[in-house]
Amino acid sequence: MNFFNDILNLLYPNNCVNCEISLLSNEDMLCAVCSFQLPKSPNFESIDNAVARVFWGRIPVEYANAYLQFQKTGSVKKLIHKFKYDNEPLIAEKLAVIAGKSLKKQLDKHNIRPDYIIPVPLHDKKLKLRGYNQCDYIANGISKSTSVPVEKKLLQKITNTNSQTKKGRYARWENVAEIFVVKDHEKYKNKHFLIVDDVITTGATIEACARTLLEIENVKISIFSLAYA
Ligand SMILES: [Zn+2]
Repeated sequence: MNFFNDILNLLYPNNCVNCEISLLSNEDMLCAVCSFQLPKSPNFESIDNAVARVFWGRIPVEYANAYLQFQKTGSVKKLIHKFKYDNEPLIAEKLAVIAGKSLKKQLDKHNIRPDYIIPVPLHDKKLKLRGYNQCDYIANGISKSTSVPVEKKLLQKITNTNSQTKKGRYARWENVAEIFVVKDHEKYKNKHFLIVDDVITTGATIEACARTLLEIENVKISIFSLAYA
């Protein structure tokens, strides 16, 4: 089988999505060197890491973390750009599988047991434009490494178009603020949700998602993103 893979590689070279060198037959999308050299988020091993601090005093969180450190230049920015804007969502899944392995160790270590992975939803219009929600791929990758199931239907993003036409400019801007809704409250009582996103900066989007999920009775929230900026 490897022989045929090698022939295939000659005909259709399979290159690293970051450094573009030819991949070995046991490598997939990202070469081992690039994978190893991805800049990791500081204090990843600690429960009091940088991402956890973003949410202090804002929402009750069981666990929050990010795997990679986003930098103005470099591989993390390049790869995120590819999976967000260049129609290469499988890169998001690949990175999430890698990140998910480290996340699994941390969840076990701190005895954190989420019931569902919730990808941050994309608005329908944006979904049609892009063709995919990169957070769905991140959720799938993390699920592969942690065995926590993905729930894509529970949380939805909506736009309050009703009030948008009647109000002034500031109000219209205000309405751009993300509005999320949850369906099927009863089924999800007492559950623990792990919300996943691509990059956390201010944490505003995740906070909006978490506040919506917290409308369900007695739920717990954890947060994980591929990168922290
Ligand atoms: Zn590489």
